[in-house]
Amino acid sequence: MEKKSVIIIGGGIGGLALSALLGKKGYKVTLLEKNDTVGGRARIFRQDGFLFDMGPSWYMMPDVFKHYFDLLGEDISEYYTLKKLEPSYQITLKSDGASYLFHSDMKKNKAFFESVEPGAGKVFEDFMNDTKYQYEIAKNEFMYKNYDSIFDFLNLRVMREGSRLPLFKKQKDIIEKKFKSEILRKALQYQTVLLGTAPGDTPGIYSLMNYVDLVLGEWYPDGGIRAVPESLEKVARKYGVTIRTNAPVRRIIIEQNNAKGVELENGEVVHADMVVSNADVAFTDMKLLDEKHRVYSDAYWNKRVLAPSAFILYLGVKDTIPGLQHHNLLFTKNWEQGFGEIFKTPTWPQDPSMYICVPSKTDPTVAPPDHENLFVLVPIASGLEYTEEFAKDYGDKVIDEIAKYYNIPNLKERIVVRRHYSVKDFIADYNAFKGTALGLAHTLTQTAIFRPNNVHPRIKNLLYVGAGTNPGIGMPICLISAEIAYKRIEGIKDPSPLKEL
Ligand SMILES: Cc1cc2nc3c(=O)[nH]c(=O)nc-3n(C[C@H](O)[C@H](O)[C@H](O)COP(=O)(O)OP(=O)(O)OC[C@H]3O[C@@H](n4cnc5c(N)ncnc54)[C@H](O)[C@@H]3O)c2cc1C
Repeated sequence: MEKKSVIIIGGGIGGLALSALLGKKGYKVTLLEKNDTVGGRARIFRQDGFLFDMGPSWYMMPDVFKHYFDLLGEDISEYYTLKKLEPSYQITLKSDGASYLFHSDMKKNKAFFESVEPGAGKVFEDFMNDTKYQYEIAKNEFMYKNYDSIFDFLNLRVMREGSRLPLFKKQKDIIEKKFKSEILRKALQYQTVLLGTAPGDTPGIYSLMNYVDLVLGEWYPDGGIRAVPESLEKVARKYGVTIRTNAPVRRIIIEQNNAKGVELENGEVVHADMVVSNADVAFTDMKLLDEKHRVYSDAYWNKRVLAPSAFILYLGVKDTIPGLQHHNLLFTKNWEQGFGEIFKTPTWPQDPSMYICVPSKTDPTVAPPDHENLFVLVPIASGLEYTEEFAKDYGDKVIDEIAKYYNIPNLKERIVVRRHYSVKDFIADYNAFKGTALGLAHTLTQTAIFRPNNVHPRIKNLLYVGAGTNPGIGMPICLISAEIAYKRIEGIKDPSPLKEL
C-alpha cells in the first residue's frame, strides 16, 4: 500500500527526528522551516572565526541519542563522537565566592559530599540509587508512552510506589530534607531550571535529573552541539525527506475535520495526507489554526506556567581564561528571590544567577587560536520588556560580574565579538509564545496527560512534535517526542522504547 504524504512544520530537533523516522518507513515527508537553516533552538551562528551554538550546550542522556540512531539502523559514531567532560562543571557561589568542581564519578562526588557535611556521602549515594531507579522506570514506562487518559498516568505502579516515584512531593523539599549546606542544596536543585521550573514547583520524580547529571554525566559531541541537528538533517535527507528552508507556514488547511495541507506566507499551498507541527504548540494553536479548530483558549495559554526566557551573551574573548571550565554555574545568594523574579513577579534579576559555557576549553574549532568562546545565559521571566539600550547595559553588568567572580583581568577590553539575544529574538526567530526559551515548564499540571497532547483531539491527522508536547523540554526529550509521534501515526501502543520501526 502506498504510504501517506506528511508535512512537518518546523525543523527543530523534534521535527527533524520525526521526519527521518517517517522517511525511513516510506512516508513521503516534506519539512517546511521558516528560518534559513534547520536546527531550531539548536542552530548556530558564525562570526569572525567563532562558531556559537545558539541554544543547547549540555549534551545529556547519551543513551537516548544512541537509542534513536539504533532505531533507524544507524551507527551514531559514524555521525559524531562524544567526549565525556571531566570535571562535569564548576559551581561558584556568590555568597562566599568559593568554587566547587562536580563529576559524574560516584567516588569523587561521594567524597565531596562527605567533606562538606559529615554523613552526607552515604545519603548522596543512596539518593543516587533512588534516582537511578526513577530514571529507569521513567524511561522504560513513562517517557516513551502516549497519554490518552488519566489512567495512563496515574497507573497502579505510580499509586503503589508513591514514595519511590514521588509525583506529589516537591523536588526542593526532598533535597532540603537530606542536605543542609548551601552548596549541596543548590548543586542538587539547579537541574530543575533545565526543565524550565523552580525546585519548589517541580514534582519529586524529576529528581531523576540528578541521576542524569551526576551519574550519566555531561558529554560533548565533536564539532559542538550543532553535530546533533546536522546529523539529524543528514539522516533525514538519506531517507528521502524533502527539506525546504525559508518556508514559513501561515495556516494549516482543515476541511471537514481533516488536515489537508498548509499555506505558506507567500500564498503557496502544499497538500498532504497528514500535518505535524513542530512549531511551538501555543503558536500553532493561536496562529496556524482557524478560530473554530483551536484546542485551547487565550485564557488557557495565559494561565500556563512558561519556562523562562533567557538573556544570552555570545562573546568572543582574546586570550585564555584559566578560571573558567567548560560548564560554569554562578549562583546568587538570594536563591528564592531569584526564582521569584522569574516565576512569580517577573522582573529583570537584580542579582542574577547565570550559566557560562566555554566550549573552546574542549574544542579548538569554535574559536580562533588563543581566544575563548563564551556563551552566557541568565534565566529571566518570559515576556519581559526591554530596549536595546537596556540590554546593552544589562550585558555590561553581567560581564562585570563574570570578570569579578572568575578573576578575569580586563575582560571587557578583551571582547572581540559580542552579541546579545533575548525575549524579542525568541519571538522573531521561533514564534515563541512570550519569548519563552524552552516552552511549557514541567510543573505537575503540565506533565504527561496534563501537557498538550501530541494529537489534535478532533482532527486525527494533525499532530504535534517537540518540546511543547510530550514528554517535554530538551534535545533528548524531543527525540523521544518524535518516537511517540511516530508510534501514534503507526498505531503502535507499546509504551516502552521501540526495538524496531
Ligand atoms: C538557550 C537555550 C538553551 C538550551 N539548553 C539546552 C541544553 O543545554 N540541553 C538540551 O538538551 N536542551 C537545551 N535546550 C532545549 C532544547 O534546545 C529544546 O528543547 C529543543 O531543541 C527544542 O526542539 P523542538 O523540536 O521543540 O523544536 P524548536 O527548536 O523549537 O524548533 C521549532 C522550529 O519550528 C520553526 N517554526 C516556527 N514557526 C514556524 C512556521 N510558521 N513555519 C515554519 N517553521 C516554523 C522554528 O523556526 C524552529 O526551527 C535549550 C534551549 C535554549 C533556547
